[in-house]
Amino acid sequence: MENHSKVRFENSYNSLPETFFKRVKPEKMPDVGLFLVNQKLSEKLNLDYSWLIKRDGIQFLSGQNLIKDSKPIALAYAGHQFGSFVPQLGDGRAILLGEVKDKKGNLKDIHLKGSGKTPFSRSGDGRATLGPVLREYIISEYMNSINIPTTRSLAAITTGEKVIRERILPGAILVRTASSHIRVGTFQYFAARQMTKEIKILSDYIIKRNFQSSLSSKNIYESFLMEIIKSQADLISKWMSVGFIHGVMNTDNTCLSGETIDYGPCAFMDAFDYNKVFSSIDYQGRYSYKNQPNIMLWNLTRFAETLLPLLDKNIDKSIKKAEEILGEFATLYESNWISNMCRKLGIENHKKTDKILIEEFLNLLQNQKLDFNNSFYSLSILIENDDNKTETSSKNFQILSKIKSSDWYHKWIDRLSSENKNKKDSIKILLKNNPSIIPRNHLIEKILNKVIKTNDRKVLTNYLNELNKPKKIRSFDDPLTFVPSPNEEVTQTFCGT
Ligand code: AMP
Ligand code: MG
Repeated sequence: MENHSKVRFENSYNSLPETFFKRVKPEKMPDVGLFLVNQKLSEKLNLDYSWLIKRDGIQFLSGQNLIKDSKPIALAYAGHQFGSFVPQLGDGRAILLGEVKDKKGNLKDIHLKGSGKTPFSRSGDGRATLGPVLREYIISEYMNSINIPTTRSLAAITTGEKVIRERILPGAILVRTASSHIRVGTFQYFAARQMTKEIKILSDYIIKRNFQSSLSSKNIYESFLMEIIKSQADLISKWMSVGFIHGVMNTDNTCLSGETIDYGPCAFMDAFDYNKVFSSIDYQGRYSYKNQPNIMLWNLTRFAETLLPLLDKNIDKSIKKAEEILGEFATLYESNWISNMCRKLGIENHKKTDKILIEEFLNLLQNQKLDFNNSFYSLSILIENDDNKTETSSKNFQILSKIKSSDWYHKWIDRLSSENKNKKDSIKILLKNNPSIIPRNHLIEKILNKVIKTNDRKVLTNYLNELNKPKKIRSFDDPLTFVPSPNEEVTQTFCGT
């Protein structure tokens, strides 16, 4: 009974027509246990942390004990997977437990991933395993700490089940939150069925929930499409500026709230490579680092197609409007990208010609196979200490000498001096815009192997604490900044389904 007063669920998505979802209860699991919980996030969500970590709270978080207002549902959606359209995907191993109002008054979905089969499971088992659940927890929380819009991780729960994959693995549930779980694929689900009325209902729902600024526009749906284009251009430019590769940018994994979603085979690059691909199933490099902006535009074009009936009564006019709005993506993306990358080079007031400076730096990294994050981070060290020791054999310190001996370095120093900033201010800008650490694949793998084997969570919570301080000044002697040695390098990542 106590549970009833602890969480106040809203069920706004539930009020949509029944075609939008299937009602389904999370499966009973043999022995649920709290593996990790995010206290700071629970506070933001107005959840009682001390209750959450006790038996009743864990039963709630794992979907084992439904509170009074809970009306769990699996959401319907379709999607283009690697370019091929699948008319029905849906939450095959996830459930929307309910929505809570956060401290700012915004609705957040409480969503369970790995909570059992649903009517959308197809041949899947509805399960998730502990390794990928923890990996998503680590990377999504890091993304949040560097201000990249993302779904968030509230808890990782073990289920007590053994899940069959290539090996037998411990089962787990990720409790994640999002500003909404509506995807490009949700719109495609209805468009593929010519359900125009539902497209309007869905648009009105998400506009009210996530894009209220569009409500005052003359053409609400045009403005809505524009807002979506803006937020995705912003998101991808942020990914590109930290070397993040999503890995599976299918339209069902493009969340219209503008949040990074569905952390599967994603990874942060170590050595810079425009063509970098991690995902074991991305044979053609469709979702390589450099393709991400183009793929997002492709996904947004699929989205705009679903909105055509709402843009104008006349289809030719609708297409023209959609094309005009989609045409803005490239410009928006490029201007976000240039300003993000310029800030990473210590330049706040960027000029048009700075694009060349950025590209030349990236070419230097590509040609010299230099680490992406550490190269940017090294720039503050280089100006801080003009005659720094560069004789050491460590890979990190080699970056300093390689950059310093390049032609690019002198161009950059000249450009910085034209900003009229003193050394201290330039360093401040560089440190503000370049994280000292990223969650590197080899380190995540090492930590997760240890944690899952020994059940000792300390090493993981320590790592999460460090990742939560991306702006902490670190020396290149700090092991958290180390790049993988050749035998540690993780060259492939997996969906983990
Ligand atoms: P993803 O590749 O994780 O974005 O998932 C693509 C689709 O496959 C979604 O409809 C998922 O719900 C579904 N799916 C992934 N893994 C499983 C699983 N183990 N059981 C059932 N459905 C799954
Ligand atoms: Mg997905």
